[in-house]
Amino acid sequence: MRPLRIAIIGFGKIAEDQHVPAIAGNRRFELVATVSRQGNGVQGVRSFTSHQDMLREVPDLDAVAICTPPSVRYGIARDCIQAGLHSLLEKPPGVTLAEVEDLACLAAGHQVSLFTTWHAQYNPAVTAAAKRLAGQEISRMEIVWHEDVRKFHPGQQWIWQPGGFGVFDPGINALSIATRIFPGELFVREAELMFPENRQTPIAARLTFASSTGTGTLTADFNWNHTGDEAWNIAVETAEGTELLLSHGGSRLSIGGELQASGGEGEYPSIYSEFADLIDERRSHVDIRPLRLVADAYLTGRHSRVEAFED
Ligand code: NAP
Repeated sequence: MRPLRIAIIGFGKIAEDQHVPAIAGNRRFELVATVSRQGNGVQGVRSFTSHQDMLREVPDLDAVAICTPPSVRYGIARDCIQAGLHSLLEKPPGVTLAEVEDLACLAAGHQVSLFTTWHAQYNPAVTAAAKRLAGQEISRMEIVWHEDVRKFHPGQQWIWQPGGFGVFDPGINALSIATRIFPGELFVREAELMFPENRQTPIAARLTFASSTGTGTLTADFNWNHTGDEAWNIAVETAEGTELLLSHGGSRLSIGGELQASGGEGEYPSIYSEFADLIDERRSHVDIRPLRLVADAYLTGRHSRVEAFED
C-alpha cells in the first residue's frame, strides 16, 4: 500500500516538535510539503508560503495536518476539504462551534475524513481513568491547570488576540481530558474570566460545572501567569470514595495514591495511527465538547480586568 501523502499547514512549535516526528514514525504517511507564510519547514521537503499554492502545485496529495493558530484554521480547512483532502485539525478545531460543524458537514459531503484532535486525550492514563470512572457518580472533580505562558508560548502574539483563546489555549487541554473521563455531560454553571488590561484574551479563568452524574464540587482553575513548575492536575473522587489523580497533563494516573502503570505509543503517534484508520474507513472523528465548554464559559462568565501583562 503506498503511503498517504500528507502536508503540514502552519509550521510552528507544535508542527516541528510533534507532527514531524509522528509522521516520520508512521509508515502509513509520507510528509511531502509544509506551509508557513515565512516558508519555514523541513530540509528536503517542499515548502510553500500559502496553502493555495501548495494545493495547486503538489500532485496526488491525500491529507493535510492543519497546525496554524485557530483563527485561520476554518478557511484553510474548507479549501483543503473542497480539494478532496482528509484533514486533521490541531486543537482547538476552530474559533467557533459553527465553524467546526460546517467543516463536519463539508467533509461528509466530500467523503473525506475530518479529525478534530485533542492531543491530551491520547494519553493511556486518560483512557484508563475514563474506564475506571465509567458508570460512577462523581462527588468531586478539581482541575488545576497552572503554567507559565512565557515558557510555552514565547513571543506568540496570536494567543492574546481575539480568537486566540488566551489561558483557554492550555485550559482546553484539561477540558478535553475532563470531557473524555467524566461519566456524563458537563455543563458550565459559573465562570470568571480575567483579562489583562492590555490584552484581548483571558490570562486566568475559574469555572464551576454542573452534571447529572456529579453531585459535589466540580471546578477548574486555569492560570497562565504562574511561575515555577507547571501544575496540570485533575483530581476526581467518586461517590464510592475512590480517589483518582491525573497529573503531568494527563500522562500519569494514580488511584488511591498508587501510581498506575502506563505505556502506549504517545499522544501524537496515537493521533496519526487513528488518522490512518479514519482514512482507511472513510470515517470522521469530530468532537466539539471541549470547545463548547469554552464557548459556554464566555457566554456565562463574569469578565474582569487585571493588571497588564508584558512578555
Ligand atoms: P506557533 O508556534 O505560533 O505556530 C503556528 C504557525 O502557523 C506559525 O509558525 C505560523 O508561521 C503559521 N501560520 C500562521 N498563519 C498561517 C497561515 N495563514 N497559513 C500558513 N501558516 C500560518 O503556534 P503553535 O504553538 O505551534 O500552535 C499552533 C496550534 O497548535 C494552536 O492551535 C495550539 O493550540 C496547538 N498546540 C500547540 C501546542 C504547543 O505546545 N505549542 C501543543 C499542542 C497544540 P508563519 O508566521 O510563517 O505563517
